[in-house]
Amino acid sequence: MNNITFFFGKPASGKSTIIDLIKIEKPDVKVIDVFSYIEKFLEKDGYILEENTRKAYTTLFEDLNNTYKENDVIIELGTNHINIVSEELEKIFPKYRITIFLCETSIETCRKRENGRSRTMNQTAFEIRLNRDFPNSHIICLKDKNLPYRILNMENELNFNLNIVLNYLNMTEEKHIRPTWDEYFMEVCHAVAKRATCDRGLSGCVIAKDKQILVTGYVGSPKGLPHCDEVGHQMKTMTHEDGHQTQHCVRTAHAEQNAIVQAAKLGVSIDGATVYCKMTPCAVCAKMIINSGIKKVICEKRYHAGSESEEMFRQVGIELNFFDEEVEKYEKQ
Ligand SMILES: [Zn+2]
Ligand SMILES: [Zn+2]
Repeated sequence: MNNITFFFGKPASGKSTIIDLIKIEKPDVKVIDVFSYIEKFLEKDGYILEENTRKAYTTLFEDLNNTYKENDVIIELGTNHINIVSEELEKIFPKYRITIFLCETSIETCRKRENGRSRTMNQTAFEIRLNRDFPNSHIICLKDKNLPYRILNMENELNFNLNIVLNYLNMTEEKHIRPTWDEYFMEVCHAVAKRATCDRGLSGCVIAKDKQILVTGYVGSPKGLPHCDEVGHQMKTMTHEDGHQTQHCVRTAHAEQNAIVQAAKLGVSIDGATVYCKMTPCAVCAKMIINSGIKKVICEKRYHAGSESEEMFRQVGIELNFFDEEVEKYEKQ
């Protein structure tokens, strides 16, 4: 689902006329009948209590997230309880491209249209809704929640500009969603990692504090020495206490080490900072991270031999988080 379009308006203000015209132009659009959500809560005079409105709209917006997530959706709403509707809207707004149209029509015109209809609603309910403060109260609520709206002049039902509405519906590009700070720094790690010179790790690392990048590093040979991708890896086999062996390339300094070294070279304090890296830092990097004053480690994945580092971080109270609990895989690990 890309688009959810809402039409707000007084009763008989012309909402269904617009929707009928859109259905002709865009037959794939799913029109949701709000009445089916609220009817079971309606009082005798057609009024709906505030707490029931919330129940109805919570269910409606849940269905948008679950049942209708593949469709472009149009929803027609009255002028009831805009405070509740806008609160629910605010919750789903970050996920979808939402457009809200306020159909502005004078009371006299609404009354005239209603009288011309064959099936009319309860007269009292109609008058109550007709006399609500609209669109001003709606504009205040929507502005308050930073929700996007357009006012449509529907005084002349047959002469309004359908293209304005269709132009909005035709904008189908995916909504841009800003990454979180953690996602942003991890994304920078990926860019940094492209400079790595040992393809066993291809790791990049970012050290940041107060939402700012301090230094970066990638896995690579010390300056002036040959790279793995020129002369091959320099493999060492490590035999552990229980007899099992692991393979390591020792030609390079790790991304985390290079970032800490860059801080030393430039004279940047990384005390209290957060380190972002591809997987759980190895035991040597972990020791350097501890001593440099870093307080938080965020890894994209787990390192198969990361338990020693995890234990050290736990003991000294460094927070360790993983984007993904999966273990990073590479050859001969
Ligand atoms: Zn290597
Ligand atoms: Zn390391």
